[in-house]
Amino acid sequence: MWVRKSVILVLAALAATACVPTNSPPGGGRSSSGELDHAELQKQSQQIAADRSKAMMDGNEQAWLSPLDPSQTESVTAERMRFRNLRAMRPQQFVLNVESVGDIGEPAGADFPKGATLHKTRVHAAVRYEADLEFTLQDYDYVFLQSNGKLSIASAKPIDAGATTYGNPVKNAPWDNVPLRAAYAGSVTILAPEDSKWDPASFTASAARANALVRGIWGQRKAPKGFLVLLATTEQKLQWFGASGDLRNASGYVYNPEIVDEKGSPVVIPPKLDGPPERSMAGSRIVLDMDRLKTPEAADRIMAHEMAHAIAPYLMPRVAFLETSPRSILNSPTWVAEGFAEWVEIIAHKNLKERSAFVGRNWAQFKPAGALPANDNFYAANSDQSSFNYQISGMFFVAAERLGGRAKTVQLYEDLVAQPVFVTDSRTFLDGPLRKRGYNPDRFWSTFDSLLK
Ligand SMILES: [Zn+2]
Repeated sequence: MWVRKSVILVLAALAATACVPTNSPPGGGRSSSGELDHAELQKQSQQIAADRSKAMMDGNEQAWLSPLDPSQTESVTAERMRFRNLRAMRPQQFVLNVESVGDIGEPAGADFPKGATLHKTRVHAAVRYEADLEFTLQDYDYVFLQSNGKLSIASAKPIDAGATTYGNPVKNAPWDNVPLRAAYAGSVTILAPEDSKWDPASFTASAARANALVRGIWGQRKAPKGFLVLLATTEQKLQWFGASGDLRNASGYVYNPEIVDEKGSPVVIPPKLDGPPERSMAGSRIVLDMDRLKTPEAADRIMAHEMAHAIAPYLMPRVAFLETSPRSILNSPTWVAEGFAEWVEIIAHKNLKERSAFVGRNWAQFKPAGALPANDNFYAANSDQSSFNYQISGMFFVAAERLGGRAKTVQLYEDLVAQPVFVTDSRTFLDGPLRKRGYNPDRFWSTFDSLLK
């Protein structure tokens, strides 16, 4: 399973960031009372952001923490955790961008020195991890403390989800909220909360197998350098990236964040209807619901399935740009994305016969109205029906492999995922793309049909 997040998330988050500086004394630098003027505040906060960006890339924890006010011990602890978590995800690029700094007045409480003032600003972290092809956004509210002409950080908090209708993609992200431990299988990063009963190190062999399988199938096509796999309980799965109802029964899913530029501003890419998009989603975070994966073998095949989605974030269907309704006939076909991943899972699982028998048993009850399952209700509440939709979609690619080999099957995935769903809805329409890749449609459909029993 995979889940899209609309670009609206990012736009809404950025809309709430205007800061109006007040009380700027005339002239540059410090006023007679020792307060910094706005230009100086801005300059110092930008320097802190630049120093911290460098510290993150250098792996220099001390430099990351040094702009923090040492009396704010809670903030120091939180920022140490954040630094270690983000470093574990192997950032390739990390740029902190400071918005205009505003005043929030005199700090209350004995913690702060006399005469100090607090200044709040939104900080956009533009980040690219190994699992990403493009920058993605992590937003924070920083509170700077100004005392004796010097700025330090009093607190840095991931921004609140209240700002958007759809939930904020950062707020509940595990790397901002819980200490994580990591294990690595080559370019695969496996993470779990430190107190999790699942040790990431026990899954490196699974991850290595799935990674080798998926990259072998994908060949030299564009792909992120690594995969990011998070081991979660069912509850964590629902907390981390928003509790969408259709996630409850998913053993795994892929969260695809939107693309931003180096400044953290959304990058709007116009839809392209004639061929696969070259950019669409920034990257992927794979989440495995470990409560639902009862055997080590299940981890193997679900990882293979989710990595098949994550290998090409730019091929993830782009609902938001075409039509916000998930039922739009212009949307990419869900069966193509899921069918491709299911095919990879079948290769990992080696249980084609069992799956064919399942489809055969359930054919009369769940057979699709078109050639393959419609987007609407693909992720059916009835788990047998949902499973049927996955299986039959996977069989399309099994047939493609049987008649044309793996490389051609991947090409077919690239061709079809870029099509609006209404042209992939009937055999007549699908005959075109099949012929284009050298398949004989009659042979293709008889092979496909033979797999459904
Ligand atoms: Zn899937």
